[in-house]
Amino acid sequence: MQNVDPNELGGACYVRCMAQSTGIWDVAVIGAGPAGAMAALAAASQGRRVVILERFRIPRYKTCAGGLVGASVNALPAGFTAPVQASASSFTFSLRGGPARTKSSAVPLIRLVRRDEFDALLVDAAVAAGAVVYDGTIVTNLAAEDDAMRMTTRNRGDVRARIIVGADGSAGRSAAYVGVVLDQVDLGLEVELVTPGDQSAHWANRVLIDWGTIPGAYAWVFPKGDTLSAGVIAERGNPDLTRSYLNDFLARLGLDEREAVVSSGHLTRCRTRDSPLYRGRVLVAGDAAGLLDPWTREGISFALRSGTMAGRAAAQASAAASDAAVSAAVTAYAEEISATLAPEMSAGRLFMRAFTRHPRGFYVAVILLPKAWDFVARTISGDTSFAGITKWRLARILLVALGPGTRPTDGPGRWGRSRGWPPSG
Ligand SMILES: Cc1cc2nc3c(=O)[nH]c(=O)nc-3n(C[C@H](O)[C@H](O)[C@H](O)COP(=O)(O)OP(=O)(O)OC[C@H]3O[C@@H](n4cnc5c(N)ncnc54)[C@H](O)[C@@H]3O)c2cc1C
Repeated sequence: MQNVDPNELGGACYVRCMAQSTGIWDVAVIGAGPAGAMAALAAASQGRRVVILERFRIPRYKTCAGGLVGASVNALPAGFTAPVQASASSFTFSLRGGPARTKSSAVPLIRLVRRDEFDALLVDAAVAAGAVVYDGTIVTNLAAEDDAMRMTTRNRGDVRARIIVGADGSAGRSAAYVGVVLDQVDLGLEVELVTPGDQSAHWANRVLIDWGTIPGAYAWVFPKGDTLSAGVIAERGNPDLTRSYLNDFLARLGLDEREAVVSSGHLTRCRTRDSPLYRGRVLVAGDAAGLLDPWTREGISFALRSGTMAGRAAAQASAAASDAAVSAAVTAYAEEISATLAPEMSAGRLFMRAFTRHPRGFYVAVILLPKAWDFVARTISGDTSFAGITKWRLARILLVALGPGTRPTDGPGRWGRSRGWPPSG
């Protein structure tokens, strides 16, 4: 990566940008996360002139536990080797910080990566396919022109492209331009800690999940060798409660936040079922589109898959000879999401509603019922999905019965202080 101070040059330039910096790009991708990298890779692989605009210098830090479930691994580009720091075949579950029980699988279920490394390697793959990267470039506005889009950037002037893929995450610009509508927003707080020397063996090959402290929320420890990612995710609106959950969680595990290498927070967002996925010549993918599992808040696989779909559609739309052909290509993207990722989100919503009301039931089922753990393990490893499970009539009936209505929306305040955390006595 070229280490050029963006303040001096108005944005660092990855490769070949000077030769291609004038004129109209076929496809511009905003954001160099997994959604953006995959969109750029897909469009560049079809011979399109593609630029990625990323606000930070690459590699950049992203608040994320870095857990790659099977669906993520399956969505990686052919031949791509993820920079896996550790993997886990054991999941330890606790309920409101109570006794922990461990369930294991014969095979690794989840791979753990550092997002800065993982995302940068995906961007490398897009560059190898011909994409150009302007990192250190912040997009501040999007505007439609006759047959193209104009992006205003804070430090690189205007950039024009036939089609834009908005992959700028949960804090970007493109979602507002497209008019993405959300029905769930959560706050994730996370710390990266140096693994205490006396805990290295304890955290080998396992992750920890705590349920039940705040309705709909959970806490985790995802080990990555010499570091641990520990965090909580809960409905947005009560950061103090979420913070105290994290602090109590860490204290109980003998992990001290003062040892944190990084401490940060980030929002995750889920779209409504009929939220738009495009407007004119702008498509949205990944977090920008609100594509995320509502229960687990797993979003990397959604970003990888929607990014690839958006990149292919953008390649087609950028070569379209008429507005009607552009419209057909972007509509096909929305239809592909409806047929693939939307059912997974719907299933995740069902799980989320039932889990919000009955975390103890989930805990007991996973711990005591081999079939329940088998479902969980097979879903994490990618053999099945929540949507696959809800195709079973009995499972669907059970989930609907456990979680009727919609997720409470009047804020975490209604839940009051978490019950039983830390456990008394
Ligand atoms: C605490 C936490 C833990 C998580 N853990 C997991 C996990 O273990 N596994 C999992 O699958 N998912 C996890 N997720 C979700 C996952 O991080 C996201 O779903 C995923 O990063 C989405 O990828 P993306 O490419 O859509 O967006 P991002 O990865 O957010 O990338 C967006 C990019 O756009 C750039 N950008 C933003 N605005 C602009 C702008 N104006 N101009 C230019 N560039 C811009 C950003 O700098 C960023 O690089 C977690 C989320 C949180 C908050």
